[in-house]
Amino acid sequence: MSNSHLPEHIIRPEILALSAYHVPPAAGMIKLDAMENPYPLSAELRDEIAQLAANAPVNRYPDASAALLKEKLRQTLAISDDIDILLGNGSDEIIQIIAMAVAKPDAVLISVEPSFVMFRMIATFANIQYVGVPLKQDFSLDMDAMLAAIVKYKPAVIFLAYPNNPTGNLFDYAEIISILQTTSGIVVIDEAYQAFADVSFINELNHYPNLLLMRTLSKSGLAGLRLGLLLGRSEWLIQLEKMRLPYNIGIMTQIIAEKVLHHTLVLAEQAQAIKLERTKMSTFLSTIENVKVYPSKANFILFRIHAATQIFQALKQHKILIKNLDGTHPLLENCLRVTIGTPDENSQFCSTLQTILSKTV
Ligand SMILES: *Cc1c(COP(=O)(O)O)cnc(C)c1O
Repeated sequence: MSNSHLPEHIIRPEILALSAYHVPPAAGMIKLDAMENPYPLSAELRDEIAQLAANAPVNRYPDASAALLKEKLRQTLAISDDIDILLGNGSDEIIQIIAMAVAKPDAVLISVEPSFVMFRMIATFANIQYVGVPLKQDFSLDMDAMLAAIVKYKPAVIFLAYPNNPTGNLFDYAEIISILQTTSGIVVIDEAYQAFADVSFINELNHYPNLLLMRTLSKSGLAGLRLGLLLGRSEWLIQLEKMRLPYNIGIMTQIIAEKVLHHTLVLAEQAQAIKLERTKMSTFLSTIENVKVYPSKANFILFRIHAATQIFQALKQHKILIKNLDGTHPLLENCLRVTIGTPDENSQFCSTLQTILSKTV
């Protein structure tokens, strides 16, 4: 290989500088790190899915427009006819479509920090300048900084996760409205945790022409299918739809998601159970001395604890995998994030944490 064929000469420097998104191995662990729904589908439903899968024409390309699935989503989410739907291979793919669509040479993508790391990573993939505006100490929006950044950078797009990941809180509704009114770009509200939050910007789609809304089935029970949705006015979605790869939603995802959406009551009951467990976990954590628990409207809890990295490692040795955020952002020093699991998984997490703390203190 001649010298000029080396990747460092060909690949963009900002890609060379990235480290790949790290997914830790989790075989044999109690997995409380990735905001998955801990409950499997019922045996009956899995039998029905097995039948559908057996009869699926996998030799053919899937329906490129995923018409049946989209119609089912429209019914289930009660989306009015004047709002369009774009489907992505997870909402990650939708973030990528939006970033690529607006990536003019001088365009800027704004988000807040700490937030979902894919906003920054995908900005880099799409070759668009990223600006992360720090949140306040309590993880609320720093409106002075946000409005200043909007004036300075004139962002093409602002991404806000609502509730925010990894902090779990909801930003102030009126403050987000004020951002919508101030910016001349698009605002994408990422409602990945909507099932656990009870609030949404969905009714604002009719009021703000620059609002787009993202949802995903990942956090409410179908992470393995990879299905994300973008909701918005047709003038935006007609353009973004052009960039969607023709068969991005595979046939298995189309037929299984459509099937499961006939059973949304089950998913709603599971979300309800998770919310109940969230209250229990949060109460438990707040009884521990020197632990600060942050309020959560999602299916995970962020907490700050002395020697967080040691505790994370000790939990891992006990086969409990959570997320260590210490060192990822100055505001997250000594912070850990635990996903709400089944009652059994949660009590194992709590008792193991208690054991670890009684030994280290
Ligand atoms: C998990 C998560 C997503 C990713 O969802 P997928 O649909 O699985 O790609 C998007 N946004 C936020 C804020 C998340 O936490």
